[in-house]
Amino acid sequence: MIVDRQRVSLKTLPDERGYFGEFGGRYVPETLFGPLLELEEAYGALRDDAAFQSELGDLLREYVGRPTPLTLANRLSDACGGARIWLKREDLAHTGAHKINNALGQALIARAMGKRRLIAETGAGQHGVATATVAALLGMECAVYMGSDDMARQAPNVLRMRLLGADVHPVDAGSRTLKDAINEALRDWATNVRHSHYLLGSALGPHPYPMIVRDLQSVIGREARAQCLAQMGRLPDALIACVGGGSNAIGLFHPFLDDDVEMIGVEAGGEGIDGGRHAARFADPQRGRLGVLHGVRTYVLQDDEGQIALTHSVSAGLDYASVGPEHAHLRALERAHYTYATDDAALAAFQALCRYEGIVPALESSHALAEAMRLAPERSRDEALLVNLSGRGDKDLDTVTSLVQGGAL
Ligand SMILES: *Cc1c(COP(=O)(O)O)cnc(C)c1O
Repeated sequence: MIVDRQRVSLKTLPDERGYFGEFGGRYVPETLFGPLLELEEAYGALRDDAAFQSELGDLLREYVGRPTPLTLANRLSDACGGARIWLKREDLAHTGAHKINNALGQALIARAMGKRRLIAETGAGQHGVATATVAALLGMECAVYMGSDDMARQAPNVLRMRLLGADVHPVDAGSRTLKDAINEALRDWATNVRHSHYLLGSALGPHPYPMIVRDLQSVIGREARAQCLAQMGRLPDALIACVGGGSNAIGLFHPFLDDDVEMIGVEAGGEGIDGGRHAARFADPQRGRLGVLHGVRTYVLQDDEGQIALTHSVSAGLDYASVGPEHAHLRALERAHYTYATDDAALAAFQALCRYEGIVPALESSHALAEAMRLAPERSRDEALLVNLSGRGDKDLDTVTSLVQGGAL
């Protein structure tokens, strides 16, 4: 496919109906159609509003701690041999991951729309914590829906959200995890839309969410691009990011779409693709098929009857059955390439970064790191691989300790 990048920039997507090629759209009940149009219109105005952008920029700098650094992982690169590995340090953002960029931006949009209450879904609790944080900052009410199984598994994050003033609602329906929490959050929004905003946590869901979340997370790629030019004197050769819903990856990729830079998304390979115990929507041609989940047409892991498949990953943040529509499109165009890392590879990368660089990465980010460590020896020393270190790993210490026996620990 020949793309005239001067005229047809991929940056202009989605189209006015919310599609990235054949992916995206707005598959929702009628009650939610009006609220989504209202959000689209409000965001369309705020996007170019100088006062809004200036307040967002100030808070990103003074509250979130941006710009986050770009760090050369020198010892890790030497140990791998070959290409240099650079890290975009989202682990150093307030609350310990990139999720705050989106939560803060959407909370400001909600406030500008006259809403005083935020609704969020959360799986591991990271997005719930980010939303509860910005609600406290801006003096807004906050309701977080969380599967009751997830609440038991992530008790410290439940405590954290409650300390921050959020109402955490257990969801007992279905598999009592993220998918069911999203259903409840949508129900709350449909009932309370006059004064509540649904603060969706990834580049997913019905239009305009994938676009809004991508725009808000693109601060990662904008900073990284400028930092590469300043610190390396050039652009990197490849960008590598883990893909759950896809927000940290699209936030890194988007500002580079018109550049001659390779892009690699890394899904959760779990215990391997064959047994089905994974969350690799693109890597499993049998279970990962085009479908609709939570309002958007994209790749969805499903069984033979089209029911949503159960997923598995050592990292809760990558453990979701569908993937953001913009990634599905970039893959169809072959502009970005998608692969996976298994639980074991992610755990090995986690330990390597601790030992070689003194940085404890999130297990999600360790998937991207695993791919960089696999790729580096195949590439020349002049090449630069830029890994999005989407979060820090303090939340994962119990998981890692229980999984790593003998060996290094
Ligand atoms: C939630 C999370 C992810 C996955 O979400 P994306 O929307 O795909 O970015 C990745 N890393 C960390 C640290 C997370 O908390």
